[in-house]
Amino acid sequence: MDRRLQSVRRAAFGVLGLVLLASGPWVGWWTIVPLVLAAGLFRLADASLERCEYPEYTMFAAWFGSQIIIAVSVALTGGATAATLSWLAIPVVTLSARFSLRGIVIGVAGTLVLLLAVAFGVNAQEVLHDPPLVLAPGGLIVAIAMLSTALMRSDVEHRTEAVIDPLTGMLNRKALASRVPELSQQAAVSGQPIGVIVGDLDRFKQINDLHGHLAGDAVLTDVADLLRNSLRAFDLVYRLGGEEFLVLLPGSGPEQTRALAERLREAIESTPLRGGHRVTMSFGVSGSRAGEPFDYETELALADAALYEAKRAGRNAVRAAERDSVPASA
Ligand code: GH3
Ligand code: MG
Ligand code: MG
Repeated sequence: MDRRLQSVRRAAFGVLGLVLLASGPWVGWWTIVPLVLAAGLFRLADASLERCEYPEYTMFAAWFGSQIIIAVSVALTGGATAATLSWLAIPVVTLSARFSLRGIVIGVAGTLVLLLAVAFGVNAQEVLHDPPLVLAPGGLIVAIAMLSTALMRSDVEHRTEAVIDPLTGMLNRKALASRVPELSQQAAVSGQPIGVIVGDLDRFKQINDLHGHLAGDAVLTDVADLLRNSLRAFDLVYRLGGEEFLVLLPGSGPEQTRALAERLREAIESTPLRGGHRVTMSFGVSGSRAGEPFDYETELALADAALYEAKRAGRNAVRAAERDSVPASA
């Protein structure tokens, strides 16, 4: 999430910098210094994110550091009466995108403590005489935290509702849930068979470990393309999760399904992917016969068991579910 925020965070720092420059004649030019310090703090945190064991703590330290910098600057420019007091609310907007509920609560509480410390520390009499000076920004901080947290939650929910896998552009498990009852219905009416193929990349973890996660992502995208291009327009292919794919073949009986799985296996084995990577894939095959009802859960379990057998047999192999009489071969 922080990576996604980086560029807009920079732009926001730019806007604040312009405002401080424009305010220079009234509050002094020095206020640019704390802004640059805060920006530097985030840069440092960005740079160390990859290396540290608990990146969220590093980010929280940078976040709270920037609040302290704002608080000190506000204290130097007049405390409770400084127009920039409300700027303590700006970093609060990003809390929900970065941290758990615990982090949000600690961040808001810490910000309120800083607000009171600055206001009372600089001129307690002034605040006691005019409490809205701290009540208004305090309310702003809490309200912003509540609203941005709700927005973030709804964004996350919305994303899990998505039916397209953003990496490969393939349909995902969620899409499958609504398609399966339709398929079963169709099979019941037409009596056509439905083939099921589950494929899982072999030793994919090694690609990540040896060449990095991005290389792994590129392999997944290429494999998804290969699978799509090897199928007919009405065949259905889904990314079940990770490096596991599901193909549903309306109208394909066991022999045809198995032959297709073999073609997919060969295509993947023989095609070099981006970056010159070569991968293999193991397949488990199952499916209903013509005139049989299609029970997705059973067929998936059978295909999964067959996939396991293919892995056990040394990978880069196709295995058909036990129930089928089709002989197994690598
Ligand atoms: P096997 O031949 O037994 O299937 O071994 P494997 O290494 O392929 O299987 P394992 O389940 O051990 O590892 C799967 C790896 O896939 C682990 C996980 O980090 C990686 N992975 C899952 N989803 C993604 C993704 O979206 N992108 C990348 N780059 N890697 C992913
Ligand atoms: Mg695998
Ligand atoms: Mg797997």
